[in-house]
Amino acid sequence: MPSVTVQTSKDPLVLHAYSQDLWPRKLLELRENGPLANPTVDQVFWPETAQEVAQVIAWARDPENDAELYPYGAGSGVLGATIPTPDSQREGEPVGQKHRKRVVVDLKKMRKIRSLDRKSMTVWAEAGWIGENLERALNQEGFTLGHFPSSIYCSSLGGYLATRSAGQLSTKYGKIEDMVLAVEFVLPNGTIAETGRAPRSAMGPDWTQLLMGSEGTLGFFTAACLQIQPLPEARVFMGFAAASVPQALEFTRALMQRGTRPAVLRILDPSETSLTLSSEAKKACDFSGNVAIVAVFEGTRRIVEAEAEEVREIAGKLEVKDFGPALGEHWWAHRYDVSYKQQLILSHNRMILDTFEVAATWDLIEELYKNVKATSVGMGILLAHFSHFYHTGANIYFTLVSHAGPFESAVDRYDVIWENLLKSALASGATLSHHHGVGTLKNLWLRREMGAWIQVFEKVKRALDPENRFNPSKMGL
Ligand SMILES: Cc1cc2nc3c(=O)[nH]c(=O)nc-3n(C[C@H](O)[C@H](O)[C@H](O)COP(=O)(O)OP(=O)(O)OC[C@H]3O[C@@H](n4cnc5c(N)ncnc54)[C@H](O)[C@@H]3O)c2cc1C
Repeated sequence: MPSVTVQTSKDPLVLHAYSQDLWPRKLLELRENGPLANPTVDQVFWPETAQEVAQVIAWARDPENDAELYPYGAGSGVLGATIPTPDSQREGEPVGQKHRKRVVVDLKKMRKIRSLDRKSMTVWAEAGWIGENLERALNQEGFTLGHFPSSIYCSSLGGYLATRSAGQLSTKYGKIEDMVLAVEFVLPNGTIAETGRAPRSAMGPDWTQLLMGSEGTLGFFTAACLQIQPLPEARVFMGFAAASVPQALEFTRALMQRGTRPAVLRILDPSETSLTLSSEAKKACDFSGNVAIVAVFEGTRRIVEAEAEEVREIAGKLEVKDFGPALGEHWWAHRYDVSYKQQLILSHNRMILDTFEVAATWDLIEELYKNVKATSVGMGILLAHFSHFYHTGANIYFTLVSHAGPFESAVDRYDVIWENLLKSALASGATLSHHHGVGTLKNLWLRREMGAWIQVFEKVKRALDPENRFNPSKMGL
């Protein structure tokens, strides 16, 4: 039997903690039914090196152990991606059949910086780094990664790679898949393999990008080579008001297509403007208007000033009202607040709250916004902001605040709401996730969105993980 020297635990408290991520549906279940009688995972490992990850894989493949493996970053996922799929929802597995051991492999002990190349501006960092700690370590060297998800205090580099995460400053610095040059990956057969070696290559398909977004179904990210940026010399904050969402979209499209690259660009729709901008904030910024727009530029002083000048000119032409820096400064100071307030709403009996983030090209985005808003009538309050922008389109981040209403269970109400909202977004031409990923919530939706490509993906999965041990029954598989 392969020996394992990796730290491990079967302590029931530990197993309960790892049986859940931050998927609001699971939190509603917990609120309604109390803690699970039995945790959904059987054991947890904490490897410290890629070799130890390979040891755990060998252990799991041993018939005496016969375990499924669930790669785990920090558990900040909001879709149930790390949670084993219940037997009843697995295709081809009779209910009641004895299940294989379900083993979580938490990579948080893998947090070394292996090398930092000042000349090429790259860093090799291990997958277990919590985002904020990695950022601080880079800041001490005079660099930034430029990746600032709202969950930066409670999410890991491995999780970012595995879910194709996007940070708040993505419009300038790109998403995690734009920052990665190469990864160290442990394949399901235990092979430790590195991808990539140059800023770009035409030596066949790009294996790094095949693995990005695989949500633990194809193996483990253990380290990544990422591009880094010098710390910005200057920052320019801006705030605007548009009369309507279409006017704000026209303005932001013009910014992107004229070539400005704000680090932050956000449109808050009327509900989000009125509910998330406090009256003190509006007063401090002397803000009046339906639709708030925030822009922040950062980089070298002369470049950001030139960009800001361009933005002011476009705003003037499109009659978007300029409120100076205060709104941008206020947003920056509170940029992580809202996400953490969501748990307060969920702690109220029968309240429901969840978010979803879709994306579409410019020709579809306005219709998408209108259709999803129309679908939500009668479901609760649907707030929306647009927060990641491209030459060709943008994303919309919806937040639904609702109540169980006549439903006996908030979970049942939640399921009906989400079925309808996702259906409406898909029919409007959107991709159903811009950056949160697939998880359990969107597992079957992936099949609908991917069409014929799901069969290709199934073949890739079978080739890499023929024993179907890695986060099985996820990603539409
Ligand atoms: C308050 C809040 C705000 C958020 N804001 C953002 C945001 O701004 N942008 C954004 O993109 N997301 C955001 N998220 C979602 C979440 O933080 C991201 O999906 C993040 O990338 C998950 O990282 P994690 O380390 O917590 O991964 P986990 O939740 O632990 O895992 C997520 C998935 O990745 C897989 N995985 C994790 N580590 C590895 C690894 N090393 N190798 C292989 N697979 C692995 C898991 O198996 C699972 O399928 C937010 C979440 C919360 C709770």
